[in-house]
Amino acid sequence: MRIGTGYDIHRLGPERKLVLGGLEIPFDRGLIGHSDGDAVLHAITDAALGAAGLPDIGELFPDDDPAFAGADSAVLLAAAMGRVRERGLEVGNVDLNVIAERPKLKPYKIAMRDRIAAILEVEPERVSVKAKTREKLGAVGRNEAIEVHCVILLEERSR
Ligand SMILES: [Zn+2]
Repeated sequence: MRIGTGYDIHRLGPERKLVLGGLEIPFDRGLIGHSDGDAVLHAITDAALGAAGLPDIGELFPDDDPAFAGADSAVLLAAAMGRVRERGLEVGNVDLNVIAERPKLKPYKIAMRDRIAAILEVEPERVSVKAKTREKLGAVGRNEAIEVHCVILLEERSR
């Protein structure tokens, strides 16, 4: 078994769609980034790459490369998972803390879990999405950003 951790934070800004965990969530602002800014999928990508001993997301998908401008982070995660599987590894489970003051993410947790499981090509029971707030503290608490922490377990494929 191999374990990896991932972390990401993106600023919220106007005139952006909010894309989080592969879902489009109705909100008056979105996450600013070179790609679609999906901090949830970025944290998972980095955790999986780290667990597999592969280069990190910034090395594989450089944010100064025009090829990744506006990129769908689900495509990037799927590509990273291809690299992970080449190493004979599969997802055991993924555990996420998604920290946002607003929008309230509770209504989206199940859909987000199912979407992530589909991208990872695993059963939904292997994915956990926890929605938290920052208790109004710091940049996330002021609703200026959304922050994500991820732990992933990879298992050598025997299936
Ligand atoms: Zn990111």
